[in-house]
Amino acid sequence: MNTRSLSFRLVTWYAGLLTIVFVLLGALTIIFLRHYLEANLLDIQARRAQQIADTLLTAASRTGDAVVAGEIEDLYSPEVNDRFIRITRADGHVVYASGKPKDAGFDPSRVPPPSLTRDKGFQRKESLPSGSLLIAARTYGDTRETRYIVEVGVSTARTEATLSQVLIMLAVGLPIAVCVAVAGGFILVRRALKPVDRLSHKAEEITQHNLSERLPVMRSGDELERLSLSLNLMISRLEDAIQSSKQFVADASHELRTPLAVLRGELESLAQEAQLKSQTRETLGSMLEEVDRLAEIVEGLLALSRLDTGEAQAEWVRFDLAELAATTADQISLLAEDKNITLVCEASTNVPVEGDRARLKQVVVNLLDNAIKYTPNGGRIRMKITREGDYALLDVSDDGIGIPPEALSHVFKRFYRVDGSRSREQGGAGLGLSIVKSICAAHGAQVEVASVPGKGSSFRIRQPLARESAALGPS
Ligand code: ADP
Repeated sequence: MNTRSLSFRLVTWYAGLLTIVFVLLGALTIIFLRHYLEANLLDIQARRAQQIADTLLTAASRTGDAVVAGEIEDLYSPEVNDRFIRITRADGHVVYASGKPKDAGFDPSRVPPPSLTRDKGFQRKESLPSGSLLIAARTYGDTRETRYIVEVGVSTARTEATLSQVLIMLAVGLPIAVCVAVAGGFILVRRALKPVDRLSHKAEEITQHNLSERLPVMRSGDELERLSLSLNLMISRLEDAIQSSKQFVADASHELRTPLAVLRGELESLAQEAQLKSQTRETLGSMLEEVDRLAEIVEGLLALSRLDTGEAQAEWVRFDLAELAATTADQISLLAEDKNITLVCEASTNVPVEGDRARLKQVVVNLLDNAIKYTPNGGRIRMKITREGDYALLDVSDDGIGIPPEALSHVFKRFYRVDGSRSREQGGAGLGLSIVKSICAAHGAQVEVASVPGKGSSFRIRQPLARESAALGPS
């Protein structure tokens, strides 16, 4: 799981906040519940104290303390009912005090004597070592009569038991509630962010070759709709910018062609004049070479811009790649012979492909031309055309100088040359392989390179075979 993803961070925040809210709510519930239960208990005890005062103490002056004590035992049985009852006279004499309760929830002998106040009643919570006691007291009598303080109490053990049950419920229930909420939140966040995933996948697919495609727009009226619309506008602007730069290269190279041809013609006619000094003739020769190089670059650029705009595929026919490669190798073998290089072509089987013959021939020419350029005298070049599954494979390998590993990923870039000066001596401008790549892309083919410096290089074109139904074009 990606811990830096938006969904993970959102859900973590959500879970944290939810836990804090639930814990606070739980704590408040316990505090309020305790308060409510204790207030209720005290209320009941106060009413009972009042009842004792009203019914028993009114007659106490007549009946005597012993009768009052007996009646309390009979009517309320405090020990059996786990209650505390104590009647104290204003002079501190204890008229009646209940004994140990049945459940031993508190020790009545340790309950401190009541404060002899003039108030009608009071309440208190007594924390004894054996347990806490909630006591409500009522006073009875006035200055003329004997004053009594009636205390009725009950242990907090039951309230505590109820509270601990609620606490257990909360301790079990809250984590479950948080887990369920987090799982729900996770599903919701994932669903909400799914369109973002789709957007980014589509955006990754869009390259300079398919800039006319657009991102899917969710008509949801939210931020994602705005984002997809803005990204689409940005792609449109990029498309326009790339299109105009391609157009510029196409126009510029087209416009340069004619003046270069005129320049070449004039230089040639100048060079033919008889009375020229030998140094002037040499200068004219090197000028002609440079004009040729320039013309080659212009032709390369024009070819690339035509491929970019899709104008290049003048024809689309089915033909035998093996036959095309063999014929091309035959035509180019003179160049190899000049350098005493052995050029072997293994192309026996029929390998039908579809496309523009002239462009694919250019691929073979560029690869063989490079192999010859970058293989020293006496070297060996091997070209092989085979079928592999649904693909035609064209391999060109040499035992030349090779390409350093760090340059391998760049050789198909425009104007890239491994060693500028060396390549320039060979007459290369760094456009040959980018033309190969563009032609391959236009034919749905891929080009790969492998090389070991000092040992040689090998280029492989992998092109889909022609479908059976496609017509065989002229060879
Ligand atoms: P260039 O016209 O300069 O040859 P390319 O685009 O055809 O340009 O090739 C780019 C670079 O790749 C060349 O400068 C060269 O250094 C290297 N390269 C291409 N083919 C080979 C090969 N068969 N052997 C060694 N290096 C090669």
